[in-house]
Amino acid sequence: MSKNILVTGGAGYIGSHTVKKLLDDGFNVIVADNLSTGNISSVDKRAKFYKVDVTCEEEFSKVLDKEKIDAALLCAGEIIVSESIENPYKYYKANVGGLNATLEVLGKYKVDKIMFSSTASVYGNNCYDKPATEETLPDPINPYAETKLAGEKLIKWVANKYNMDYVIFRYFNVAGAEPDNSNGLRVKNPTHIIPNANKTALGQNNILYIFGNDYDTKDGTCIRDYIHVLDLANAHSLGMKYMFENNKSNIFNLGSGQGFSVKDIVDEVEKITNKSLNYKFVERRKGDPASVLANCDKVFSILGWEPKYSLKDIILSDYNWRKSNNEYNG
Ligand code: UDP
Repeated sequence: MSKNILVTGGAGYIGSHTVKKLLDDGFNVIVADNLSTGNISSVDKRAKFYKVDVTCEEEFSKVLDKEKIDAALLCAGEIIVSESIENPYKYYKANVGGLNATLEVLGKYKVDKIMFSSTASVYGNNCYDKPATEETLPDPINPYAETKLAGEKLIKWVANKYNMDYVIFRYFNVAGAEPDNSNGLRVKNPTHIIPNANKTALGQNNILYIFGNDYDTKDGTCIRDYIHVLDLANAHSLGMKYMFENNKSNIFNLGSGQGFSVKDIVDEVEKITNKSLNYKFVERRKGDPASVLANCDKVFSILGWEPKYSLKDIILSDYNWRKSNNEYNG
């Protein structure tokens, strides 16, 4: 019998792409999202949808009263580093307090398999000189990363109490869209580099600001490890199978293992779109580590996952998505 997967934040960017992949792979999917940042158009029609605040125990319990859930994927949360520095309370409230409320309900209803969206930013500057493995000591340098690390620890303790299995994924830099333009990042004013560079190429932004060219890297701009949202979605589906087949818990990095500087991204966007970008170097952005790189040996060997999409695929799919969906590109 197909397993029932509950996805919190399933109308968001990563959640919705993962919902589609889980459905394609034969799972039943129930989405719970309050649509505060998510979008109902992103949710695959095959999924059951509940508009609820998963951080409110009373509201969230109503979903669990109706549905028998075999595993929960927890994607709901706040995700913007710069905002977390301006407003740390909001991040602790949502990503720690809110997660706590969600877990209390899941524990009460005996859901014993949990998957959690975490982030490579938990490593802070500790992957500066070599790629981070899951053993690299976390050392967050902004409130967003602190709250995600606190969330990981909370999950481990809750799993210990209720004898749950969990899989935690630490995402590196996620970007890209469905190649048929059916789904992508639905944000009018993105903060991330690939959508911003593409918006500049499309003339939707006048200028691309590059935050810092004085880092100790090959060209002075920050290095990141980029992963296509569809590769990420696939890892979640494999992670679900891993939990159901093995009844085990684990933590995995999800990246490509390859680093690209911000300047590399600009060059690649210019090459792919055949346009020259109007860009300007400005001051460093607060909370940005110089280099964030993944060692993904563990997920390759244990889940048999590997990324299928290149940096070019990531940039081009986001570019085409932006070009064909004007409502998100004001
Ligand atoms: N960045 C930039 N200009 C932008 C957006 C991002 O120079 O308009 C830089 C940012 O300072 C960082 C890198 O691009 O060095 C990746 O940032 P992004 O926000 O895409 O992801 P993060 O690594 O913060 O999760």
